[in-house]
Amino acid sequence: MAKDSFRTHHGMVDILPGESEQWQAIEKIIHETAREFHFREIRTPVLEPTELIARGIGQLTDIVSKEMFTFSRGEDNYVLRPECTAPVARAYIQHHLDQRGGTQKLYYIGPMFRAERPQKGRQRQFHQFGAELIGSDAPAADAEIIAFMARIYEKAGIRNTTLKLNSVGDPESRKAYKEALQHYFRPKLSHLSEISQQRFETNPMRILDSKEEEDQPFIAGAPLITDYLNEECLDHYAGVKERLGLLGISYTEDPRLVRGLDYYTKTAFELVSPDLGSQDALGGGGRYDLLIEEIGGRPTPAVGFASGMERFLIACDALGITPGADPIPDVYIVTRGEEAEKWGLKTLKSLRATGIAATMDFAGRSVKAQMKDANREQARYCIIVGEEELNQGRFTLRNMIESDEQMLTPDEIITRLMPPVQLL
Ligand code: AMP
Repeated sequence: MAKDSFRTHHGMVDILPGESEQWQAIEKIIHETAREFHFREIRTPVLEPTELIARGIGQLTDIVSKEMFTFSRGEDNYVLRPECTAPVARAYIQHHLDQRGGTQKLYYIGPMFRAERPQKGRQRQFHQFGAELIGSDAPAADAEIIAFMARIYEKAGIRNTTLKLNSVGDPESRKAYKEALQHYFRPKLSHLSEISQQRFETNPMRILDSKEEEDQPFIAGAPLITDYLNEECLDHYAGVKERLGLLGISYTEDPRLVRGLDYYTKTAFELVSPDLGSQDALGGGGRYDLLIEEIGGRPTPAVGFASGMERFLIACDALGITPGADPIPDVYIVTRGEEAEKWGLKTLKSLRATGIAATMDFAGRSVKAQMKDANREQARYCIIVGEEELNQGRFTLRNMIESDEQMLTPDEIITRLMPPVQLL
């Protein structure tokens, strides 16, 4: 390579043609699912005030203490956003979105930046999609956020995931729990890793998050937050579990699940995949009833999730799923003769108007060559039309997968092929 040629920074990658189609396909699923759930898109700047992120995520977190890309210009301090919850909360306050009435259901997709050590599933520029439901403390809001997240993966065909669920309590419960943790860890302090020793005074809950080998036996025996939840938190947690049950969303309770960020209250969750290796979280989130007040707004309860696009694609790859793979037509119209071709052209228009992906031969090829082409394109159905069919007003609909045929009118064909509308 020439001495003066440039490469991307460590942990930053180009998304090339062949990959970008997969990104578009996943983004499409996210936008479509958002529409179904009635979440509205919000796009915030990539640069935010450093102080917003420091306050919003918490000074003691790894992200704020060592992973932010920051710079100053004149009087202003800029940070490349490491996540989007604090920026969305800032926008909510700045634009008085509370005055739009009801709750705000917002979602986003975009690049985030963290100066982490790059490895599989961990980059310095990565992409997240996520959602925030702001203005409700009801357990139904937590269930809605989790259902939205779960549905996106389900639609992509990723079904071997586990939803881990916990409640991290409110400040009152957490105060009692922190004391219990310090009481438990104090006699063991000299055996803990250096990082856990540092966390002991400031944020002992984060010791539970430690990946250090020497901490593991002590973490295993530590008291559980669930034993310290007050009545309000317990009720809320039970309400969330009941609603997930109603929605048929299965979960595994994990009383050791603590999120790295300080602003979480009550519900915490993570969606993990066996296909991701050591970075096994596809995404996660929880309730953050304290954040909006922390960054200057009125006390406002909220719940949200954030997921990584790169890990979404790693999971797809491991399962042999290619999002946005070569598109397949629902219908290929096979025509014999000029009148049939004209009928075909008009019928393509009516099929497409109802959302059916359809094509035909445009080169006057033989019926045999057209059938071959339909097979090559993997069309699900063929409509076969010649003089006889035109005279009868009934056409052959051939199911190419099951190889069976039926004679139907055009209306019957459309009814048969229309994408199902599911109301319940
Ligand atoms: P977090 O905001 O840390 O809770 O992360 C939420 C999700 O974002 C994770 O589950 C990952 O899918 C993704 N994510 C976080 N950090 C990175 C990173 N450095 N590289 C790639 N994906 C990441």
